Amino acid sequence: MQLDDIRARIARAEADAARTPGSVTLIAVSKLQPPERVRAVLEAGHRTYGENRVQEAAGKWPDWCAEFDGVDLHLVGPLQTNKARQAMELFSTIHTLDRPKLARTLARLAQDLGRCPDLFVQVNTGAEPQKAGVLPEDADALITEARALDLPVIGVMCIPPVDADPLTHFRDLREIGARNGLAGLSMGMSDDFEAAIAEGATHVRVGSALFGARDT
Ligand SMILES: *Cc1c(COP(=O)(O)O)cnc(C)c1O
Repeated sequence: MQLDDIRARIARAEADAARTPGSVTLIAVSKLQPPERVRAVLEAGHRTYGENRVQEAAGKWPDWCAEFDGVDLHLVGPLQTNKARQAMELFSTIHTLDRPKLARTLARLAQDLGRCPDLFVQVNTGAEPQKAGVLPEDADALITEARALDLPVIGVMCIPPVDADPLTHFRDLREIGARNGLAGLSMGMSDDFEAAIAEGATHVRVGSALFGARDT
């Protein structure tokens, strides 16, 4: 199964970069995958999954969470404020905090719920108009604001532009994390997760290389 191959590639990339074995978390991005493929990876023992839509995740994960112990769900797609409560109930970690309004909504709901998922601030490192994420020049201010609201910000996340060399984006993200004292770096997908690990990724988000091409 592909899972063994991806795990081996992560382990090799950790070793090549003199990183601690097991220091990189594999988020298996299961969006739009046929259920039997996800089930196979669950049965192989993997527990950390990523979804990019709250609605899709809410439709399919509660049953699997009841069947398999210890499932850990990460939201890697954009979050609308009207879905924030549902997202906070479903996900252990949200990778897409990208604006002050969402930070204020999460802070208010955290008071209500008495807990809050771990958060990554998504940075639009390529400053692409159509893409979610705070602009690099506004990232420090958003991180400061989220911390002032007592939100548990643990890192930063990026999705490099499709046609760009991802390396400069990974480095820019690492720099933003470092100057804000954030240890978490959510970067690297199917085509570039090893390069991301070389640049310090702590969380890689791998979909198609693990499950196969998605239905679209
Ligand atoms: C779909 C998705 C991934 C996984 O992409 P692959 O190229 O299939 O590995 C990673 N991160 C985000 C935010 C995604 O939406």
